[in-house]
Amino acid sequence: MSNDQAVQSKIRVVLVETSHPGNIGAAARAMKNMGLSRLYLVAPEDFPNEKAVFRAASAADVLEQVVVCSTLQEAIEGCSLVLGTSARQRKIPWPLVTPKVAAERVVAHRLDPSDIAVVFGRESKGLKNEELQQCHFHVNIPTSEAYSSLNLAMAVQVLSYEIFCASGEPNSEVVWDQPAATSEALEHFFGHLENTLETVGFHDPDNPRQLMTRLRRLFMRINPDKMELSILRGFLRAINDMIRKP
Ligand code: SAH
Repeated sequence: MSNDQAVQSKIRVVLVETSHPGNIGAAARAMKNMGLSRLYLVAPEDFPNEKAVFRAASAADVLEQVVVCSTLQEAIEGCSLVLGTSARQRKIPWPLVTPKVAAERVVAHRLDPSDIAVVFGRESKGLKNEELQQCHFHVNIPTSEAYSSLNLAMAVQVLSYEIFCASGEPNSEVVWDQPAATSEALEHFFGHLENTLETVGFHDPDNPRQLMTRLRRLFMRINPDKMELSILRGFLRAINDMIRKP
């Protein structure tokens, strides 16, 4: 038994464009075994389906409460910690953590009022770069070099297990004075930042290079709180006001 149910109830497991309903059922079972119950499906190819119910075994209740969304952004709305899982390294690497460190982050977030999302990619192609770039961390499950890609539900099992283990031993991190910024607040900030950089001539949308990706990574890594984000937005507003003055 875990002695901290609170963190489990804040966690959304998000599966992006899953093609096999059996994997959805097996993921639901893996979740329930580890005390998780909130499954979000982004544009699943084939759901609901009997195969999912069959593979869920005694976790059919998790399937009954599934939230189906059309985009990842919708599935992570209201979340202030988003963990993206991927077997692949990226050209622009995202802050990389092991499942154990990811689980510690989750437990450290337990007193924040917003939800936490753990995001899993397609069986065929995983998560796209722009999807991973909506996450604070890239979680990689260490594997043999010969074959690094786990079955989707197995990956859900590993993450759920680590969170279960970590939640039994809440660490003694200092309680933060401000709630963390949610994913939609961050998206608004990135839009505001991009417009301002364009207005001042620093960012050329016709030749963007990797500017916004790198800035996005910087702010995701920091995982800013609401107050920090509103200071930054105030700063951007002041710049825009100054430019607009005759
Ligand atoms: N062929 C895909 C892998 C898909 S496996 C690719 O190249 O990315 C389906 C999903 O399971 C992945 O998107 C990821 O969410 C998870 N997964 C599989 N293996 C993983 C690993 N070693 N580390 C982290 N996540 C993994």
